[in-house]
Amino acid sequence: MQQLQNISLLPYNTFGIDVTAEHFADVNALADLQELPAGLPLHILGGGSNILLTGQVHGLVLHNKLKGIAVVRENDDHVWLSVASGEVWHDFVLHTIEMGLGGIENLALIPGTVGAAPIQNIGAYGTEVKQTIEDVSFWHLSERTLVTLSNAECHFGYRDSIFKTQLRGQFFITSVTFRLNKKPVLNTSYGAIEQELNEVGIAHPTVKDVAQAVIRIRTSKLPDPKVTGNAGSFFKNPTIPLAHYKMLQAAYPSIPHYPVSDDTVKVPAAWLIEQCGWKGHRTGDAGVHTKQALVLVNYGHASGNEIWQLSGDIIDSVANRFNISLEREVQVW
Ligand SMILES: Cc1cc2nc3c(=O)[nH]c(=O)nc-3n(C[C@H](O)[C@H](O)[C@H](O)COP(=O)(O)OP(=O)(O)OC[C@H]3O[C@@H](n4cnc5c(N)ncnc54)[C@H](O)[C@@H]3O)c2cc1C
Repeated sequence: MQQLQNISLLPYNTFGIDVTAEHFADVNALADLQELPAGLPLHILGGGSNILLTGQVHGLVLHNKLKGIAVVRENDDHVWLSVASGEVWHDFVLHTIEMGLGGIENLALIPGTVGAAPIQNIGAYGTEVKQTIEDVSFWHLSERTLVTLSNAECHFGYRDSIFKTQLRGQFFITSVTFRLNKKPVLNTSYGAIEQELNEVGIAHPTVKDVAQAVIRIRTSKLPDPKVTGNAGSFFKNPTIPLAHYKMLQAAYPSIPHYPVSDDTVKVPAAWLIEQCGWKGHRTGDAGVHTKQALVLVNYGHASGNEIWQLSGDIIDSVANRFNISLEREVQVW
């Protein structure tokens, strides 16, 4: 494994933050992980689409370039695919669609790598990746062994998994096995998918039609990181007690919510942020997207600390007005 020194991370993060990594190396094979140097703090980098870099990165940045997709088994209903973690997520989605397989079409165009997908259980348009994950394999960094966890052992939750809690900082995900459907059951009820399909006159959609509808909706709503730096949703949607929601509803009758359990509801963070007047806000080059208040943007030369500061101000104002603590979804380095 070839190590480089003082490498700019500008091309490696979708926020477009220009900081350097003290040491940097591509991981091309499992053997690279087996011979990692001891004593350096390790930082694992996929597509850099869910990180905020707030200063020089000390230690060794491991850039995941593990590649390969293989069918491991199939039956009349399903195909199991083992996918190396450095594969680009969206390319993998397109690959499964070409194979006629269903399950992840609603997750089209999410940036990043396959290996990062289980960490925060990526989700969009009523689908979460946990619904198709069979197991996740990782290299345990301190025990220096390869471990495989079943879906149940990953403890998936909303933008959450064991990789963000008990195993935090201890693993390099090497591959993910997916179980996909030969007889796809489409989920078009969420968001604007149905409307989008109607507009193009598709009454009996295929997995490809759904993916294309999702791609069109996402392209029209979300800023393209190649044009405006961002990391998608910066905050998670908070879950609050039903009693708290009812109090808020008395003061703000239009407050949206989605039931989570008998006594909790989820409130869209974008709505809370917008109510506090942040949508379209800009301080220097750090801002809140004009069309989607959940997305913080870098208009050019914002530093990671400026974005961090802005996110803190948003958290404070939402807490003061609604007594709700927003949690950052983006990983801060
Ligand atoms: C425009 C835009 C839209 C987005 N839309 C969505 C969306 O709809 N739904 C959604 O859920 N997310 C969304 N995201 C967030 C992001 O795409 C996902 O979180 C994605 O899975 C991150 O992948 P990555 O490879 O870029 O991870 P990185 O940003 O490189 O890493 C994220 C974290 O995971 C760790 N990590 C990455 N790979 C590994 C590995 N192999 N082993 C161990 N640790 C690892 C990193 O150390 C880091 O802490 C969006 C982002 C953008 C920019």
